[in-house]
Parts: sequence; structure tokens; C-alpha cells
Amino acid sequence: MTNRTFTMIKPDATEKGHTGGILQMINEAGFRIVAMKMTHLSKEKAGQFYEVHKERPFYGELVEFMSRGPITAAILEKENAVEEFRKLIGATNPAQAAEGTIRKKYASSIGENAVHGSDSDENAAIEGAFFFSRLEQF
Ligand code: ATP
Ligand code: MG
Repeated sequence: MTNRTFTMIKPDATEKGHTGGILQMINEAGFRIVAMKMTHLSKEKAGQFYEVHKERPFYGELVEFMSRGPITAAILEKENAVEEFRKLIGATNPAQAAEGTIRKKYASSIGENAVHGSDSDENAAIEGAFFFSRLEQF
């Protein structure tokens, strides 16, 4: 178990002005931000990031969505970070997300669900390195 995970505030949440509210929930849940940047993914970069879902029927829609506007990428630190952060974001489908979760509060649909959270320590490391060099992690 490592103590880091990776997140993105997705284009839907950026468009609606929820970046600050989401970062506040992340901080209040006890995560330390160790890297952060706002950027706009090209279709190519969004496609690479979600390459594991290439064969899924929603892949095209996902790539369009994730490249639609700016995102905020961050690496977060907390004990048992991957699992704790998945709890904080809630279920992929906001209709199934628990009260008090980020997706319950800010997601509008299964596709446009406000935030990403890594699903394993291995993917957290891969995803963090996709956006940040060692010099950008504090
Ligand atoms: P993420 O990886 O973004 O944290 P997740 O792990 O909860 O989300 P995944 O199964 O990894 O869910 O799906 C990746 C993303 O693909 C989802 O967050 C969502 O934006 C999109 N997605 C998943 N299922 C669907 C679907 N049935 N229809 C449209 N988009 C979907
Ligand atoms: Mg996932």
C-alpha cells in the first residue's frame, strides 16, 4: 500500500465552477495536495489516459468529454490514499453515490461524473507520472 493517489477534476465540474468546492472537500477529508495543475487534454492525450477502456462502448464519448475543456490534475497524499479517495468520490454513477461524496454533490451522470480517482496503487503511480515530473511533486 502506498500513500498516494491521483485525481482529475473533470471538464463538467470545471465548466460549472466546482473546482474550488471539490478541492475544499478533498482538503477537509484530510488529503494533502502534493502536485496540482490545470490543463486541457487533447483527444490524443485523453485517449491515452483512458486506454484501458478502449474496447468499451463509451470510449469515444469518454474521450470527447475529457478533451472538451480544462481539467485540474492532482496527486494526493493520505494513509491508504487510493481506497480512502474512492470512498470520498463515491460510485461512478452519481445515482448510486453515497451522501457526502463528491459525486453525490457534483456529478450529473455516469459519464459526466465530476472527478477521477485511481483504482489501484499501481495505476496511481502511472497516472501521476502521466502529468507530473518528480520535480513537480512536493
Ligand atoms: P474514473 O476512472 O474516472 O475515476 P470510475 O473508476 O468510477 O471512474 P470507470 O469504470 O473507470 O469508472 O470508467 C471511467 C469513466 O468512464 C467514468 O468515470 C465515466 O466518466 C465514464 N463511463 C463509465 N461508464 C460509462 C457509461 N456506461 N457511459 C458513459 N460513460 C461511462
Ligand atoms: Mg476508473
